[in-house]
Amino acid sequence: MGYNQNMFGLGSKRSIIREIFEYSKSRAAEIGAENVYDFSLGNPSVPAPAEVNEAIRELLDTQSSVTLHGYTSAQGDAGVRQAIADRIQARFGVDISPNLIYMTCGAAASLSICLKAVIEEGAGDECIVFAPFFTEYRVFIQNAGGTPVVSKPLPKTFQIDVADFESRINEHTKAVIVNSPNNPSGVVYSEETVKALCEVLKRKSAEYGRVIYLIADEPYRELVYSGIEVPYLMNYYDNTLVCYSYSKSLSLPGERIGYIAVSPKMEECTNIYLTVCGAGRSLGYVCAPSLFQQVIARCIDAKVNVEAYRENRDLLYDNLTAYGYECVKPDGAFYLFVKALEDDAYKFFEKAKAHEILVVPCDDFGVEGYVRIAYCTDKARILGSLPAFEALAKEYGI
Ligand code: PLP
Repeated sequence: MGYNQNMFGLGSKRSIIREIFEYSKSRAAEIGAENVYDFSLGNPSVPAPAEVNEAIRELLDTQSSVTLHGYTSAQGDAGVRQAIADRIQARFGVDISPNLIYMTCGAAASLSICLKAVIEEGAGDECIVFAPFFTEYRVFIQNAGGTPVVSKPLPKTFQIDVADFESRINEHTKAVIVNSPNNPSGVVYSEETVKALCEVLKRKSAEYGRVIYLIADEPYRELVYSGIEVPYLMNYYDNTLVCYSYSKSLSLPGERIGYIAVSPKMEECTNIYLTVCGAGRSLGYVCAPSLFQQVIARCIDAKVNVEAYRENRDLLYDNLTAYGYECVKPDGAFYLFVKALEDDAYKFFEKAKAHEILVVPCDDFGVEGYVRIAYCTDKARILGSLPAFEALAKEYGI
C-alpha cells in the first residue's frame, strides 16, 4: 500500500466522542433532540462575549480587507503579539517579549508545534502525560517522533501523584504536559502539587544533565469557579512553554486561534522560540487566522459567562452525588468525571444509553472505569436528564 498506514489508522478510526456524537444526531432524528441527553462533546454552550462581535464589526468597517484577510508574519502580527505579551506581564508578572509569542490555530496546533520543537526524532525521547489526559496527546507526541509515558493520578482527588511521576522520569524524558483545569476530570492542580512537580523536574534535569520541558496546555485557564487560582507555570519552572487557546476561554473553537508563549526565563529562550517557528513552518502552522488575531487583540480582557457553567456543575454534581454516583467536585473546565457503576465503563455507557444518556467512557483518557460528562449544554438538558440518571442508579441497586 503506497500511503502512510499510521495516518490511515488515525483517519479511519473515529474517536469514541465523534462516534457518540454521530449516534446522538441519528437518535435525535428518531425521538426528538429534547429526549436525548447528549453530554459527549466539549463544545462551549455559553456564547462568545459581546465584545467579539463588536470587534469583528469594527474591524470590517475600519480596516482594508486586503490587510484584514491577508497574511500576517508567520509567527503572527507584531501588534497582536505585543498585546498578548503585555497581558501576560500585567496578569502573571512575567516580563515576556512579543518575540517569544507565536500565534497558532488553537491549543491543538500549539501542542503539535511545541512537541515537534522539543522532541528529537529517532533519539528515543519520551513525553510524560498525567492521567486522565486529553486523548489527542498520544497522537501529537507520536507524530513528533516521541513516546507517550502515562503517570497515574492520586485516587479520588485526581491530583498528580508526584511519587509516581518521579518514577517515570529517566534519561529519555524530554517533556511533560500539564493540563489544568483538566479535561476530563475538571480538576485544577493545586499550588502545592505544582511546586512539588517542579521541584522534581529541577532535580531530575540536574541529575540527567538535560533540560526537561514543561508544556502547559491551558485552553480551560479562564473556566474556574469560586475564585480559585490556577498557578501560572512559568512562575514555578523556567523551562516552560504555554499553549493557550481562545476556543473555550472566549467560546471561539471554530475560529482556531491561540498562541504559544516561550518563557523568557528558559535557557536559550531565543533559540527555542526560533525552533518553535521552525516547527510551525514544518507543520504548515504559519500565519494564524488574521481577522481573529486582530479580534483577540481587541478582546484581550473579555470574558465568557463562567457562572452559567458553574450553575450546570452544581446542578449535576449535587444531584448525581445524591443519587449515589461518585465523582470529584470539579473546580474548573466543564467536565464531570464520574465513576461508572460497574467496572467496565463501556458496559455502563451502554446501560446509560438505554436511558438516552450519552456520556464518554474514559479508558482512552488513561483511567479505566470512569465516564466523562460534558456539561457545556443548556440547563434544560441537564434538568431533563436527572430522572434518567436517577433511574440508571436504581437499576444498579444504588
Ligand atoms: N487540550 C485540551 C485539554 C482540550 O480539551 C482541547 C480541546 O478540547 C484542546 C487541547 C484543543 O483545543 P483547541 O480547540 O484550542 O485546538
